[in-house]
Amino acid sequence: MRRVNIIYAGLIAALALTSVAFGQMAPQMPELRRTPLDQEAVWTIEHINGGAYRAMTNNHGTVFVVTSEGIILADPLSYEFAVWLKQEFATRFGVPVKYVVYSHYHWDHASGGGVFADTATFVAHENLPAYLEMPPDSTTLSDVVGQYEPLAALDADGNGLVELSEVPKDLQRFPGSKQSIFEGFDANKDGALNGAEVVRGALGFVHPPDITYSDEIEITLGDQRVNLTWVGDMNHSSDTSLITFPDDDVILIVDYISFRLPNREMDYELGKFEEWMNAIRLTEEQAKKYEFTATGHGPVGNWEGVQRWRVYLETLQNEVAAGIAAGKSLEDMQRDIKMEEYSDLEGFDWVDENVLGMYHFLTD
Ligand SMILES: [Zn+2]
Repeated sequence: MRRVNIIYAGLIAALALTSVAFGQMAPQMPELRRTPLDQEAVWTIEHINGGAYRAMTNNHGTVFVVTSEGIILADPLSYEFAVWLKQEFATRFGVPVKYVVYSHYHWDHASGGGVFADTATFVAHENLPAYLEMPPDSTTLSDVVGQYEPLAALDADGNGLVELSEVPKDLQRFPGSKQSIFEGFDANKDGALNGAEVVRGALGFVHPPDITYSDEIEITLGDQRVNLTWVGDMNHSSDTSLITFPDDDVILIVDYISFRLPNREMDYELGKFEEWMNAIRLTEEQAKKYEFTATGHGPVGNWEGVQRWRVYLETLQNEVAAGIAAGKSLEDMQRDIKMEEYSDLEGFDWVDENVLGMYHFLTD
């Protein structure tokens, strides 16, 4: 562990020097994501309204609706959580999952659906399946950009593979799960991650959709409906569905809006900031029509939480733009932009990373 850490620090320094040598402002690599080894899984189910329930595993949330004919489940979140959910559904409701509807393809929301494959039909936007395809074999660890850069940088011996032995034991795990994301990346299960596997992401537990749609789709099961609406091609993903349960007055929004501060959802390496803001504005208008707004992270609230997220991003945009206009360095802005009025929200310690993300949106 210790040896790996020292080499890792050296690599970061080398990368920083390389950027300086190319005359750019040294970009700050995001931190390697970790899960404390002693973190307990906290799995909960709470009633929202009508047939709709909130299910959470630690910091990740989803929604399911119980109908007379079975259950419609949005994101399954992780394999271990899905196994627990399946038992709870059998005990509490005595009906199987008939539909799994995906908000988007990301590993920390879409994983685990295979647990329900014996009874469920899987539904997603038509842009989802392409994300599950493996990039070409020629892809190397140096092609990794953005949130997985620190994972690629763990290749301490420089052999082009991140072996399990090179990965810290507290590498991030699936939500509320003992499974390391290493297992999700390692598609060929050879105990080492190549460039293609890291670029694709930890998607090994994402069950592919049976039904895809382009603009919107309505599904009826028993006496309940679920609607999926595409919110457009934006930075967070090009396959994001806004999920609504009109018979239960519940809307589910995942990652492009959360009821905590943005984290990696900034996805600045993909650009498309204006497209993101458009999706947020469209969703804010939709959320006003529903009593309950659930997001992928944070407590169930209402449309005003969506409005607050939009205003946060607009304020951040204005502050970073003003900093750039005043000739401030990224580091100065990360130190000076506080966003204190959001200190009650979870993730408030990510403001400096949000400044980094906004800086890239405005300058790349
Ligand atoms: Zn996501």
